[in-house]
Amino acid sequence: MKVHLTTLGCPKNQVDSELMLGMLTAAGFPLVDRPEDAECLIVNTCAFIDRAREESVQTILELAQLKERGRCRSLIVTGCLTQRYGNEVMKEMPEVDAILGTSGLERIVDLVGQAANRLDWATSAPPGYLYDAATPRLMSARVPYAYVKIAEGCDMGCTFCAIPQFRGRHRSRPLRDIVAEVEGLAGRGIQEAILVSQDTLAYGRDLPGNGDIGDLLLALGDTRMPWIRPMYLHPAHVSDRLLAKWRRARIVPYLDLPVQHGDDGILKSMRRAVTARRMKDVVAAFRDAVPGLTVRTTVLVGFPGETEAALQNLLEFIEDVAFDRLGVFTYSPEEGTPSPDFSDPVPAEVAAERAGIVQEAQDRIGWERARALLDTVQEVLVDGPSADPAFEWEGRTAGQAPEIDGLVYLRGRFEPGRFARVRIVEVEGYELIGERA
Ligand code: SF4
Repeated sequence: MKVHLTTLGCPKNQVDSELMLGMLTAAGFPLVDRPEDAECLIVNTCAFIDRAREESVQTILELAQLKERGRCRSLIVTGCLTQRYGNEVMKEMPEVDAILGTSGLERIVDLVGQAANRLDWATSAPPGYLYDAATPRLMSARVPYAYVKIAEGCDMGCTFCAIPQFRGRHRSRPLRDIVAEVEGLAGRGIQEAILVSQDTLAYGRDLPGNGDIGDLLLALGDTRMPWIRPMYLHPAHVSDRLLAKWRRARIVPYLDLPVQHGDDGILKSMRRAVTARRMKDVVAAFRDAVPGLTVRTTVLVGFPGETEAALQNLLEFIEDVAFDRLGVFTYSPEEGTPSPDFSDPVPAEVAAERAGIVQEAQDRIGWERARALLDTVQEVLVDGPSADPAFEWEGRTAGQAPEIDGLVYLRGRFEPGRFARVRIVEVEGYELIGERA
């Protein structure tokens, strides 16, 4: 049975997809690039916010049409949408033959093996699944980086976030297993390991004697992996002890610290367990500890109770911290979370307008910071051929995480998957243009 898998959502989902593809390949199922050629279609969904859910449902419906017209015999839906709304999907989408949540990924092999059109596998099982280094994994993208999921779930309980409901409580993988996986990836030619989870700095807290995230980073420094990039660092978990280990760890000079807001009232109402003052100190301490640090953040605007004054506090906060990059999202009320019941909701159009104001303020700061790179020489990882026809290759500096930050467009001859010393000759917004130094 020929299989095609569509992945939606975040890098954590991409890891799950690569694991499922690895397990299916190991079980002898051929994979095809085009959904039209598949006898079994799998879609690994996202349900993070409204828009992601709509995209998931739309994709399922599009693939279901192929099942009606084409050679496809079964449609399987996996991921966050089915973990969270499994029963609804089975009830309301009869074109779906089987579902799997975010746990028990290995069951995908049985599901694909089953005859088409059998509605006998429905699970929204408790989210207990965590893979290990021995799980087969097929790297789906031809790029020199790989996401490594170090933990799953979250205990923080931010009042806007539904993730803990369907990804469950925080669970860490054993330190040695992650080190083995990263070493294995380095052996396969991967040059950059991006450590992901819902709450990366909480790593190890649930495993007595397992060590904390600082220990993990120090241990990963002994692998052959050139670049190690931890992502999603909750500012509330930063301590002097962590900073001391951070200084010694061999990781890229990059900090992804989602602050969500800069007004203390909103932060409290979001239950972020940290103040604006503390977050400023945290960024300053990291900048002090790591020379040449690039700092990225995300903020959420339009949270209930966000007044004009709160917005001004956020803008001042952004100005003071001077992030290199910032992603801004507008609040959407998530079922099962406390915040939809909070008073003073912000109308969607006001939230959208505020998002524009915040992004504009950030772009002014971020572009200026990016301009400082002009005429410097940077180590660049060449990701591969450029999507822009004006350039042959594209890559990234250590300050650019894949898929979310800008790129370095490269002029001249380069080798994909290799590092090169590059002189930055032009800066356009967050994008850089470079030539071999
Ligand atoms: S820390 Fe992140 S994943 Fe956890 S509840 Fe808050 S926003 Fe959600």
